[in-house]
Amino acid sequence: MNKSVYLDNNATTKVDEKVLEEMLPYLKGEYANPSSMYDFAMKPAKAIVEARARVRDFLGAKNENEVYFTSCGSESANMAIKGSLNCNKSKKHIITTKLEHPCVLNTYKEFEKQGYEVDYIGVNSEGQLDIEELKSKIKKETALVSVMYANNEIGIINPVEDIAEIVKEKSPEALMFVDGVQAGGKIPINVKDTKIDMLGVSGHKFHAPKGVGALYVKPSTHLTPFITGGHQERGLRAGTENVPYIVGMGKAAELAMDNMNYELTEVKRLRDKLETGILKNVFNARLNCSVAERVPNTTNIGFEYVEGELILLHLSDVGICASSG
Ligand code: PLP
Repeated sequence: MNKSVYLDNNATTKVDEKVLEEMLPYLKGEYANPSSMYDFAMKPAKAIVEARARVRDFLGAKNENEVYFTSCGSESANMAIKGSLNCNKSKKHIITTKLEHPCVLNTYKEFEKQGYEVDYIGVNSEGQLDIEELKSKIKKETALVSVMYANNEIGIINPVEDIAEIVKEKSPEALMFVDGVQAGGKIPINVKDTKIDMLGVSGHKFHAPKGVGALYVKPSTHLTPFITGGHQERGLRAGTENVPYIVGMGKAAELAMDNMNYELTEVKRLRDKLETGILKNVFNARLNCSVAERVPNTTNIGFEYVEGELILLHLSDVGICASSG
């Protein structure tokens, strides 16, 4: 892999050296259970508190108690969707978009099988959400609206803060979940002054290891526990905390905040340069999603008459890692 070019950072990212460095003590000597009462457990317990505060800042939340650690972005979505719907069984209408990740779509399908009425809002050829359609579907029976912040394949950014306003205006009791997995680390997130009730992120998308995620939950939001058992994560997700990975996610969140300007300027410049070069030099190449706002690291280019998979195989032969979709 010496000469490889890794361009698949929406699939996963490399663990940052600084993240690994902060994690290592908790994989070696500092192995105490953070719930234990003796002194040896104080350091891991404190490390979780610190990581939660870092993720609070990363999400722009008011209070660290609004942050719950999970194992991944999929779990964050499951915890939000299942937890909120199972807490409010009187309302049986839910809304999402056709472009969501399977962790949302397949979870919605489960509720559809249980008799929920589900509206899947469409997008145009640029991937832009039909806000008027969304508006027209919200009603007083709506329990939950789920909209992704940024799309994993074309990078489009949905106006989730405005959508949350619309949701609350049309149905004040409906909850709004945002899958923020592809936004985390790429654009600033600031849930504080928004009407978003829940927002999920995943560590491995911004240089923490695979196996750790987080869910922001607004204090007034009621959820049933995702894993029942002990008191961890304030009773919503039982199980001894994954201290090294939580510490890693906290450090990655801090680094992502420090590097945000680089992401928004330098990464965008490189992405735009690559796009311009391909569009200029490759016959019948076209940019998918050219008018909407996108995360700075993502491009999606269509090549007419050629199968995406064939292109990926050729790219792989010359050491370039990319994805089609
Ligand atoms: N949501 C989006 C938009 C994603 O791109 C992904 C992963 O690719 C997920 C959720 C799931 O995240 P995880 O792999 O951490 O479960």
